[in-house]
Amino acid sequence: MSRFLHTRYTGLKAYVPGEQPKGERLIKLNTNESPFPPSMSVKEAMAAAAMGAHLYCDPECRLLREKAAQCYGVGLENVLAFNGSDEVLSFAFMAFGEKGVAYPSVSYGFYSVFAALYGLDAKVVPLDAQMGINPGDYEGLNRLIVLANPNAPTGRALSVEEIEGILQTNPEAVVVIDEAYVDFGADTVIPLTKVYDNLLVTRTFSKSHSLAGARLGFGIASAALIEDLNLIRCSTNPYNVNSMTQAAGVAAFDENEVSMNRCRAVAAVRDQTAERLKELGFEMPPSLANFLFIRHASVGGQRLYAGLRERGILVRHFATPGLKDYIRVSIGTEGQMEAMVRATEEILQEEAYAQSER
Ligand SMILES: *Cc1c(COP(=O)(O)O)cnc(C)c1O
Repeated sequence: MSRFLHTRYTGLKAYVPGEQPKGERLIKLNTNESPFPPSMSVKEAMAAAAMGAHLYCDPECRLLREKAAQCYGVGLENVLAFNGSDEVLSFAFMAFGEKGVAYPSVSYGFYSVFAALYGLDAKVVPLDAQMGINPGDYEGLNRLIVLANPNAPTGRALSVEEIEGILQTNPEAVVVIDEAYVDFGADTVIPLTKVYDNLLVTRTFSKSHSLAGARLGFGIASAALIEDLNLIRCSTNPYNVNSMTQAAGVAAFDENEVSMNRCRAVAAVRDQTAERLKELGFEMPPSLANFLFIRHASVGGQRLYAGLRERGILVRHFATPGLKDYIRVSIGTEGQMEAMVRATEEILQEEAYAQSER
């Protein structure tokens, strides 16, 4: 730290992204990306846009927002594009957190970072014994509420009715529903943005549309909330979505069904993988996302992480107290998951042998 840093940032702990290995040939199941590369038409659209990269991009993302509005069934005034959903989440904390913020104790790690960055009073709400969110805990809090649905890293989802209850009892606070993983099986609350002016839904193309590296996310809400977010956006970086990414997003919306079919395929592999892991004695909350959060009575999370890493498979381990027994495994292709299950079997055998020797 230099002596020049504003004192408001002393002690700030930054978000630590999952490892992005360079060079090594690993089966990468640690950051919930799509295992499928972008389609040819998306790559061609990006290459064509690169030809015009000497000019500024459209600061309003007009064409992209038109496609988004059509896809999500909302008006143009109800949607904004962002540099990943991390950016819209950041702006939401900045814009709507004056009375404080509430989020679950186990959720996306960036929420606590944003709360600290903007100096917000944070109410951290524990999960229930099944690692679920109890919607009753969020009723009438009268502060910004941020929930990932499905939640990460648990994969558990709330129903539309449960979220509606939270919206109804917090009419004077914004409720953000982070739908990063909704395309893998949970129900969206985008239609409720027409009924509740305090609902902001965030979406990302990182997990379900094979564009994590392009950085593209959306905010969907009432026109007034969108106007507020646009004020922050235009006061920060009006060219927040670059021209290659805007073109990629347009092309990806044009073949949205391809992405949705891939999500359904990933969900089917998730369910098969969950069954096989349960047969091996793993426990896990029921996941509606593109990952499984698993633990085994006889092997710790760190040991599983290290054993898989030795076998060329990268997963995520959180060294935090309530989570250290678990690993989070992103769902890859059928072949990748086959390799993961086999490697896991080996680790369990090794562990059983080591225990018998003790
Ligand atoms: C991955 C993730 C994000 C971030 O998405 P980007 O669009 O890549 O910034 C947001 N929320 C949750 C819950 C996530 O898991």
